[in-house]
Amino acid sequence: MKDFAGRIAVITGGGTGMGRELARQLVAEGCNVAMCDVSLEAMAETKRLCEAEKLPQGLRVTTHVADVSIEAQLQRFRDELAEQQATDKIHLLFNNAGIGGGGSLFTNSREQWERTFNICWGGVYLGVRTFLPLLLKADEAHIVNTSSVNGFWASVGLGVSHTAYSAAKFAVKGFTEALINDLRLNAPHVKCSVVMPGHIGTSIVSNSRKVQSGTESDELSETEIGLARQRMKGMGIDVAAMSDQDIQNAARERARSFLEDAPTSAAQA
Ligand code: NAD
Repeated sequence: MKDFAGRIAVITGGGTGMGRELARQLVAEGCNVAMCDVSLEAMAETKRLCEAEKLPQGLRVTTHVADVSIEAQLQRFRDELAEQQATDKIHLLFNNAGIGGGGSLFTNSREQWERTFNICWGGVYLGVRTFLPLLLKADEAHIVNTSSVNGFWASVGLGVSHTAYSAAKFAVKGFTEALINDLRLNAPHVKCSVVMPGHIGTSIVSNSRKVQSGTESDELSETEIGLARQRMKGMGIDVAAMSDQDIQNAARERARSFLEDAPTSAAQA
């Protein structure tokens, strides 16, 4: 999809990080945005930042409190959106919401494991399930699911365990590949893709660092310093602005060096 003007996008987890940058980018391109998050306060800030740009007349940015792991809350979001955006269709669905799942099978409780899995993977499945009827009504539509570098390389060699997070992000990648085929057969006007960001400086990273270190310290971990040195630490805007050719080329270059480095690091682990 080349032109976002006048379209309607749904973003889950629009309160901070990449979801916020995405909302700002889409609004700047004239796209209406309906976002959900567990934090109303965070979404209010995203909305304020979006509206700080000079919005085209009539463009709508709406905020909806919903937990992506709870189907009834997503259905309420869908109903509110239909009313507040005055539409029965959407063109873009960004299943972006997620939480850090730092922690090993040896330390995480089953509840922690399930929470990470239900949000990072369940939220993507429920997002598609809830919004597919609205995507089907658009002339063309696109679903973007957020996996992670942990969805193809489960933190081997980084000295940190992310068992539930990696399992969930692998599931997002596998689900997306199967969904691409399903849509091709049943609804070819709906496209689907997966985004697999590397290390991006957002609150998900600092929060899981604090959980792992057991402190409130904002000091970067050795892993993060290593990634920053290799120029592999990006910002939310790097992912949100993937339509920008220069940023795409830089991201490809980073991904290439990351993949080239991966087997060596894994062997050293
Ligand atoms: P972030 O913490 O800044 O943003 C995540 C947003 O999701 C927050 O606003 C949070 O409140 C919201 N959220 C959390 N649980 C939710 C729930 N149950 N329902 C609704 N909203 C919920 O982090 P981010 O880095 O912008 O993360 C966005 C996505 O990118 C996540 O899926 C994350 O796993 C993925 N990702 C992040 C990185 C990274 O390095 N930051 C790398 C790869 C993938």
